[in-house]
Amino acid sequence: MNRFDTDIIIAGGGLAGATLALALSRVVPSLRVTVVEAYPLSTDALPEDYQPSYDARSTALAWGSRLIFEELGLWQRLSEHATPIRQIHVSDRGRFGATRLTAEEHGQAALGYVADNRWMGLSLMRELQGTQVQWRAPAEVLGMSSQAGGVSVAVKAGEDVVQVSAQCLVVADGGRSGLRESLGFQARHDNYGQNALITNVSTSDSHRFTAFERFTDAGPMALLPGGAPGCPGHQSALVWTLSDSALEALLGLDSEGRCQRLQDRFGWRLGRFTRMGEVSHYPLKLTTVAEPVRPGVALVGNAAHTLHPVAGQGFNLALRGLVTLVEQFQIGVEQGRPLGDLGVLGGYQRAHQQDWQQTVRFSDSLIRIFGQASAPLAAARDAGLMGLDLLPGAKRWFARRAMGVGGRKPVIRGHGVGTGTEPAHHE
Ligand SMILES: Cc1cc2nc3c(=O)[nH]c(=O)nc-3n(C[C@H](O)[C@H](O)[C@H](O)COP(=O)(O)OP(=O)(O)OC[C@H]3O[C@@H](n4cnc5c(N)ncnc54)[C@H](O)[C@@H]3O)c2cc1C
Repeated sequence: MNRFDTDIIIAGGGLAGATLALALSRVVPSLRVTVVEAYPLSTDALPEDYQPSYDARSTALAWGSRLIFEELGLWQRLSEHATPIRQIHVSDRGRFGATRLTAEEHGQAALGYVADNRWMGLSLMRELQGTQVQWRAPAEVLGMSSQAGGVSVAVKAGEDVVQVSAQCLVVADGGRSGLRESLGFQARHDNYGQNALITNVSTSDSHRFTAFERFTDAGPMALLPGGAPGCPGHQSALVWTLSDSALEALLGLDSEGRCQRLQDRFGWRLGRFTRMGEVSHYPLKLTTVAEPVRPGVALVGNAAHTLHPVAGQGFNLALRGLVTLVEQFQIGVEQGRPLGDLGVLGGYQRAHQQDWQQTVRFSDSLIRIFGQASAPLAAARDAGLMGLDLLPGAKRWFARRAMGVGGRKPVIRGHGVGTGTEPAHHE
């Protein structure tokens, strides 16, 4: 008889929690996995059709993330609505420095892909349908206490609160993680003093599958190629960093005024901005925890690290962390160890730490160096961007980071799920 109600309980079924559940079901199918998700989306009642929406939010998936999704058997479905990034153009407004990375020079079909979050969520839910994963929604994890060899987790569904025992709790409740705080993990928050404005825009010229990273004296912006219904090639997803006053001024404008303001900052590489969709915005900060594990608990996804969105690294880093955690659980099962044991969870921390620290440093320094108006820094940026073009080694390093293949190489044994390998597939 099993001592526990379930083996692993995951608090939060967002992109990180749902991907972890799918990966566990594929790689260690003997484990019983329960996901508790506050939002009322269930694998039992999924929409039949998917219609891309102009206002959907999207995520840039690095090449390394595609490889992981392929191994999880999710890529084929995801790729139905994913736009390839064939070039990345990095530039500095009003300065000479610019660099261009192309998929061709790296001998592959794409540097990465842009997928809309709603489609990613739906694809994950459809794949989870055929698995043993128990999906409880809407329901909320309220807290956790230790019990012999495992944990007891309080789960609230409607008016009822039940205790669910498990070997291990994985916290995947997002960047504003209430559980991280209530379980006493020390998080460090560094405020960027800026806001991210998120929207979709239409352009008169085609994006030609180019992602633009543009640094301006007011802060960085990214435009990712998308494929809106009705105007393929002429829609991009915008992440625009703005100070409080610049944000307020922009929000006071009508759609035409907003497009004009964007045109002034971005220039004409995409022709004229003809439409801006619904905008959303939020203050930017970098959140990281010193240690993502405790006996019986591990933090993943945004609960463990929330990065600046312009560099497009957050989910890609999270995905590599999930692969590492699954690998440790697999080893734990093989060795018959309790999965909440620090001998198992500490392996996740050690194996993921270097990639995590390097990716945080990479995305943070990109923002801090390129988000400054000072003239000496601007000159250094020009030198840096031109240097990238002139020094193949530096450019290759930058490209490998952007493609999500620059970190260590966790490989789930027997499944070949790897994040650090050279591209193995071509379209
Ligand atoms: C504007 C923007 C653009 C981005 N662009 C990129 C990009 O291009 N590339 C990239 O790699 N990353 C990007 N990211 C980061 C990426 O979106 C996140 O890394 C990813 O969404 C993290 O998912 P998560 O599952 O950790 O958190 P979330 O998506 O926040 O999910 C948390 C889930 O937990 C649930 N929950 C909360 N509390 C509880 C509880 N107590 N009990 C049960 N459930 C609970 C919530 O309902 C939610 O579903 C971007 C982020 C933003 C904001």
